[in-house]
Amino acid sequence: MTDSKPKPKKPRGVAQLISGACIACGARCQSVCPVNCVEMTDTGEPIIDAAKCIGCQKCVKICPASALEMYFTPEEQRILAELAAAAAPVEEEIDPEAAALAAKLAQYRGVWVFVEQTEGEPAKVSWELLGVGAELAGKLGVELCALVIGEKVEHLCQEAFAHGAAKAYLLDAPLYYHYRTEAYVEACCHLIEKHRPEIILMGATGMGRDLAGAIATRVGTGLTADCTGLAIDDKRNLMQTRPAFGGNIMATIMCDRFRPQMSTVRPNVMPMPERREGASGEIVRDPFVVPEENILTKVIEIIRDTHGKGAVDITGADFIISGGRGMMGPDNFAMLQELADELGGVVGASRSAVDAGWMPGDRQVGQTGKTVRPKIYIACGISGAIQHLVGMQDSDMVIAINRDKNAPIFEVATYGIVGDLFQVVPAITRRIRELKQQKQ
Ligand SMILES: Cc1cc2nc3c(=O)[nH]c(=O)nc-3n(C[C@H](O)[C@H](O)[C@H](O)COP(=O)(O)OP(=O)(O)OC[C@H]3O[C@@H](n4cnc5c(N)ncnc54)[C@H](O)[C@@H]3O)c2cc1C
Ligand code: SF4
Ligand code: SF4
Repeated sequence: MTDSKPKPKKPRGVAQLISGACIACGARCQSVCPVNCVEMTDTGEPIIDAAKCIGCQKCVKICPASALEMYFTPEEQRILAELAAAAAPVEEEIDPEAAALAAKLAQYRGVWVFVEQTEGEPAKVSWELLGVGAELAGKLGVELCALVIGEKVEHLCQEAFAHGAAKAYLLDAPLYYHYRTEAYVEACCHLIEKHRPEIILMGATGMGRDLAGAIATRVGTGLTADCTGLAIDDKRNLMQTRPAFGGNIMATIMCDRFRPQMSTVRPNVMPMPERREGASGEIVRDPFVVPEENILTKVIEIIRDTHGKGAVDITGADFIISGGRGMMGPDNFAMLQELADELGGVVGASRSAVDAGWMPGDRQVGQTGKTVRPKIYIACGISGAIQHLVGMQDSDMVIAINRDKNAPIFEVATYGIVGDLFQVVPAITRRIRELKQQKQ
């Protein structure tokens, strides 16, 4: 007879929150708990009922911020140490659901950027996305690929290589000359099904928004619009950050159960990557075409929207002089135009100035306007509401002119001038003219 003591059972512990680590991702921990022992506070943090917790670790595994850990009592810790010392092969409990999910997600690899073009002319945002795409691909250890669709658009594959792509999937056919939702959705879904990328990035332009939404619906995955930040967590998930609740908070959104993960990003939000002259890559041509009779939309003519005579694209400007409610009226914008003319720049506006009818809507900078990234942004009589800041805070230099020294615009300003803009702006214009004359 042997004196065999029964082997101690491996303690499961209970989940607990690591103080300060929760990023309030939207109650993912609560959503996976099989015994409903997670309550959420008003600030979006979990409170775990330790008496009910069965130690399944689902919340710990799903947390994108690694904000949850398993807690073991001293007694449980002793048993764990004993088991480890005895080198008793402890059978790890495999969660079949988690294993199936991991296997499903592992089928998707690679970061794709949709190269937007109109009649062969690429949208600049596509190259910006290749810049951030390269960072994501590097972190994941996968290829950065461009998705090029159109007619006679092979030159865009070369451009994509120059901006960081290693491979380009090319669908080149007359059918794709004009963007039509049905044709492009069919084409993209065909390639997604065939090659299974884990991330797809598109510009938050009219075309990108239309296409991304339709694709996400078709392939049954999530889409985060207007992202301002993209990163990878330690479980290979894409952390998609964007303003929420009117720009008052930044939300980080995850799509950790479905692939591909899809995001749109507005032009000028991501920095332009450096051009790699002469860079080459692999072009994967795909002959897939949708029968023309399956496409209900026919393009008769393209009429470019020039917003009338003298239209100005503020997103491409190096110098922007913007006016807000402090301008007091539409006529005073002439003063900003004078300064803009001296600098070779354009005049922008806050939403208040646009809503008041002082400036046209296409000059609006901010969350519901344009995102700009000029070399110099001069904010005149603009308080610096968060909705304005998200549209201009990545400018190389911000100069703020405001008579209120506590105006929030000064928090993002490189140089702040506390004063009356009606004196400061003409003085700057005069000085620039003087300097120019001295140079002649
Ligand atoms: C969902 C949503 C989306 C929004 N989207 C946008 C957006 O895209 N873009 C945007 O701009 N806003 C947006 N807003 C509005 C935003 O919240 C602010 O109301 C707006 O930006 C304020 O504009 P402002 O700074 O021109 O006006 P105010 O906040 O009224 O500021 C005027 C400033 O002028 C200064 N001033 C007055 N007279 C002078 C003077 N003589 N000399 C110097 N300084 C002077 C004042 O000190 C003050 O700081 C949005 C709001 C919401 C809710
Ligand atoms: S470990 Fe399991 S039971 Fe405990 S809180 Fe987390 S999900 Fe719920
Ligand atoms: S899953 Fe993590 S980050 Fe999300 S609410 Fe729970 S503890 Fe916070």
